[in-house]
Amino acid sequence: MLLIGFVVLLAGCVEENPKKLDVKIFNADGDSLGTIKLEEQAKGLKLKVDLEGLEPGVHGIHIHSVGKCKAPDFKSAGNHYNPDDKEHGLLNPKGAHAGDLPNLIVKDSGKVKATLTAKDVTLREGKTTLFTQKGTSIVVNQNQDDGMTQPAGDSGKRIACGVIKKRK
Ligand code: ZN
Repeated sequence: MLLIGFVVLLAGCVEENPKKLDVKIFNADGDSLGTIKLEEQAKGLKLKVDLEGLEPGVHGIHIHSVGKCKAPDFKSAGNHYNPDDKEHGLLNPKGAHAGDLPNLIVKDSGKVKATLTAKDVTLREGKTTLFTQKGTSIVVNQNQDDGMTQPAGDSGKRIACGVIKKRK
């Protein structure tokens, strides 16, 4: 019994990165739009998007390099997360930023459910970790990301944001 107690205590002291994480997304008014569930894969990260209250149509979505979502413009989130020093764009031969993601397609109801993959980022430690000193975040844009134009695919203003952080 004593031994088990000791092992449990020891495990509690080692802070491991989570393999799953929920990111709560808010618009410029501070309204909750839903959650993006992150899940570590063998290679990269799966993002299960479940949002509502967005304008119907195509919207850019990216992982950003600062874990700060200051409304209303969300400029605090910094540029796209780019630990490998590449150009922007999933269609760009010199791309892409690790934080670049396929566009979201929002239905007439204002809802979107989608599963995206970010193959060049991780919740584990390392160069491409999302747990950097400045933190990271996920930002949704007003317009479609064209996959090519620097620095952000001509995707317009930032309309929603969520900080990627470990639960305390
Ligand atoms: Zn980018």
